[in-house]
Amino acid sequence: MTSVLIVGAGPTGLTLACELAGRGTAVRIIEKSPEFHVGSRGKTLNPRSLEVFEGMGILDRILGIGRTDLFLRKYRGGEIIADTDPFTAVEQAPGTPYVRGLFVAQGNVEQVLRDRLAAWGVSVELGTELTGFEQSDGGVTATTAAGKRIEASYLVACDGGRSGIRKALPVTFEGTTLQTRTMVIGDVEADGLSRDFWHQWIDEDGAIMLCPLPGTNLFQLQATPERNAAGEPVEASLESFQWLFDRHARMPGVRLANPAWISTYRVNERMADRYRVGRVLLAGDAAHVHSIAGGLGMNTGIQDAYNLGWKLALVAAGQAGDGLLDTYEEERLPTAAWTIDTTGERWREVQRTIKEAGSGTEGVITSDVLGLGLGYRWSSLAVERDGRDGCDGRGGRGDDSRVRAGDRAPDAPLRDADGAPVRLFEVFAGTHFTLIGFGADSAEALRESEDKHGGTVLACLIGAGPGGLEDHEGHAAREYGVTGDALVLVRPDGHIALTALAGDTEAVHEYLSALAR
Ligand SMILES: Cc1cc2nc3c(=O)[nH]c(=O)nc-3n(C[C@H](O)[C@H](O)[C@H](O)COP(=O)(O)OP(=O)(O)OC[C@H]3O[C@@H](n4cnc5c(N)ncnc54)[C@H](O)[C@@H]3O)c2cc1C
Repeated sequence: MTSVLIVGAGPTGLTLACELAGRGTAVRIIEKSPEFHVGSRGKTLNPRSLEVFEGMGILDRILGIGRTDLFLRKYRGGEIIADTDPFTAVEQAPGTPYVRGLFVAQGNVEQVLRDRLAAWGVSVELGTELTGFEQSDGGVTATTAAGKRIEASYLVACDGGRSGIRKALPVTFEGTTLQTRTMVIGDVEADGLSRDFWHQWIDEDGAIMLCPLPGTNLFQLQATPERNAAGEPVEASLESFQWLFDRHARMPGVRLANPAWISTYRVNERMADRYRVGRVLLAGDAAHVHSIAGGLGMNTGIQDAYNLGWKLALVAAGQAGDGLLDTYEEERLPTAAWTIDTTGERWREVQRTIKEAGSGTEGVITSDVLGLGLGYRWSSLAVERDGRDGCDGRGGRGDDSRVRAGDRAPDAPLRDADGAPVRLFEVFAGTHFTLIGFGADSAEALRESEDKHGGTVLACLIGAGPGGLEDHEGHAAREYGVTGDALVLVRPDGHIALTALAGDTEAVHEYLSALAR
């Protein structure tokens, strides 16, 4: 029998499918569309998503397609007024190896995820639309448009902002939809236009932006719509794109051609009030939609899936109690609320400032949209047994620069016994918990924990002489705020589960045993 049925093969569904398949969970993923989506839509992965993809083993492939070095080129009245680097909000540091977003079309991200999934022997079942479902204590029975029944232990709705599953549950989707059509959008060729810049022509009476999509010969075009004599927006088309381009860019040599996708965009700010109803869970746009300012849609869906994947795999395998699934909503719903607020503020700010000379979209890329400060300090899965106190309850580092349980676990450069460089993120990569032991006093706890929870926990001894990794520049101790010997348990999704005293094997055992209940 299928353990998990995923509905929808966008970035959220595909990430979740990879996370489950990689752990040996029997997973199926169905997609109503008869073919894969061609439009770019999301075009940037934030640094936290890059870390997620490193953990999943697909980062090199993604980096090979995308670009981190695109500058914004702003024009006014057809003249270049500024070239701006959008990713200067955070400086690279040992704990944060990726501080620049990666420009890469959502379609390319989905292709890489599908290839990863295929390596696990799972493929997307195209042309398979879920039309109904029923759940009982024992599982979920889904029905497809072709009248087929699929039995599964859990159903995950990754079916996008218009989620039929969310409506059928029913789960409310509170928020607002702007009734005016705010943007036309599409993927087009634009011969003669440099592919080293995200071009932004911003005038008093409208704007058009063309961003090269790495790995393709296309640009993503976003513009305020052309309006007819009555002031009504004109239907998006190649002709209307060219008209807008000629009006704002004033580059007669550049012709737009071969649109691969044409659409319109309006801002929705809504979120589900529950992420779980029994055996049915919501993720990605099915659970929250918000403005594109800050580029967090695809990223938030990927990060939802990364949070849910390991939990669902453990529960489906009977290695964790069903209650672990409640922590998905506990952790990710507040993150969605924050995302809606922050992207909404940025959207309104850009709408206001974009009319001023010299202002553009760079204002939306601030340190918090990079995703590196998001954590779950409030979570019931965040446990501190080493006397750390003063939690600010905001789920991020806040004023307290020391990492705490629930925070994203930082990277650090180390050296192995042969002196070869090893990064902590390389140790984390995979499906396991990582128990970091700082100092010789933690060695015994590491041994015992691996004995008791082998297969679940990978032990990583730091700074204890031969047999451990060397923290040669002290970055690991600094990043983790450790001054003596200590234990830090890191979850499979790269968040800190537990901080404990070096000899406290029992704390680790209790933590992992509690998951099983
Ligand atoms: C113009 C635009 C620009 C954007 N820019 C960015 C950006 O820069 N960065 C960013 O991070 N995000 C961006 N986004 C947002 C991003 O595209 C979405 O947040 C993302 O696609 C959500 O992924 P998802 O997998 O949750 O849902 P979707 O990608 O919507 O996938 C849902 C899938 O479910 C399928 N489905 C629906 N119902 C059923 C059913 N009953 N049975 C089977 N299958 C079903 C659909 O066909 C679809 O393939 C942008 C979006 C738009 C429109």
